[in-house]
Amino acid sequence: MAITTLPVLVLNQNYEPLNVCTVRRAFVLVDRGKAEILENGRGYLHSPTALYDIPSIIRLMYLISRPRPQGRLTRRDVFLRDRFTCQYCAKKTKDLTLDHVLPRHRGGGHDWQNVVAACKSCNHRKAGRTPDEARMRLVRDPFQPPYSFFRTFYPYLESQSEWRKFVVGWDGDDGGGFA
Ligand SMILES: [Zn+2]
Repeated sequence: MAITTLPVLVLNQNYEPLNVCTVRRAFVLVDRGKAEILENGRGYLHSPTALYDIPSIIRLMYLISRPRPQGRLTRRDVFLRDRFTCQYCAKKTKDLTLDHVLPRHRGGGHDWQNVVAACKSCNHRKAGRTPDEARMRLVRDPFQPPYSFFRTFYPYLESQSEWRKFVVGWDGDDGGGFA
């Protein structure tokens, strides 16, 4: 991958994650005085006369207001929120199913607070029961992620470790909840 196409985290002036752009785009924003480099993280680009920081995080010099619609509930969103980890046995796997904590036929909703990622064997074992009835414990309580755009950032967080402190909800590998 060319350096100029690497992803850069764009923060609002108030340090809230706003977007992801390329190094190329970040150079333009910084060059025009619209953003500052917050973290280099990628080394330097040499030109015959100068040395340029290659940003991994930039911050806009002005505040952008954006509406924040609620996140839609898709399988992928739930798996991302749960970090591809079964919420019953804590196994990390891509082979996941959606589990309704309170089963649908018992009135459980298809919403963030009632849907978790579960591996096939846990889902099979739990069947149509509540966790209590099945004597299974959730790794953590399901929750609504605060940002609808968390999908924008989460796929990068495994590799872009320096982004994590700016993206709410990432708190290491202990599987803890959002603040
Ligand atoms: Zn499991």
